[in-house]
Amino acid sequence: MPSYTEAISAAGGVPVLIPLGLGEEELLAIFDRIDGILLPGGGDVEPSLYHGNSHMTLWGIDPERDRTEFILSRLAVQHRKPVLAICRGIQVLNVALGGTLWEDIGSMIPDAIEHDISNGTPRNHLSHPVNIRQDSVLAKALGRTECRVNSIHHQAIRDVAPELMVTAHAPDNVIEGAEIPNHPFAVAVQWHPENMIADDPAMLSLFRALVEAAAQ
Ligand code: MN
Repeated sequence: MPSYTEAISAAGGVPVLIPLGLGEEELLAIFDRIDGILLPGGGDVEPSLYHGNSHMTLWGIDPERDRTEFILSRLAVQHRKPVLAICRGIQVLNVALGGTLWEDIGSMIPDAIEHDISNGTPRNHLSHPVNIRQDSVLAKALGRTECRVNSIHHQAIRDVAPELMVTAHAPDNVIEGAEIPNHPFAVAVQWHPENMIADDPAMLSLFRALVEAAAQ
């Protein structure tokens, strides 16, 4: 968790952690008092939430975390509050808005490149390039339409939620970015920019874009 809060601080924001186990009214009370939301990385979303299937590679399922983050995701969309979704976050946002996931890239997508570079590899290791849609908020925030990114995920967006627009792909067409058009700032990436800010100023710019949108 420190890398997320450090990135928000470095971008000029003030990080606040939201605990699990709160009721919907309590979450709404917190939501009303904050200026933006960051949906961080973590374990897999419970597959029944997207009519998916169990899979031997699933890990870290946490129904309470799913519940809390789905509520916050939908609030951020409904109330047009800035949201940056990272790794698990892009998957949470997609499922909360009606999309689905590949339960496991490696065993379900033929010819996929390796996306789950986690065993013993530093989290800032640049694994693969991504192509970014030119007219996206993501490209504007990063200041570029292609870059190399780290890749620490075994799942990805399958069916894109109706409200989301895909903004980035890996060379194997796995979805690496998405955003909500006409929302002040609802940007999602499949990689981990918080682990890259020391190496690549563009990745800090992504957090700056969130903080700037939140300051409006
Ligand atoms: Mn990847």
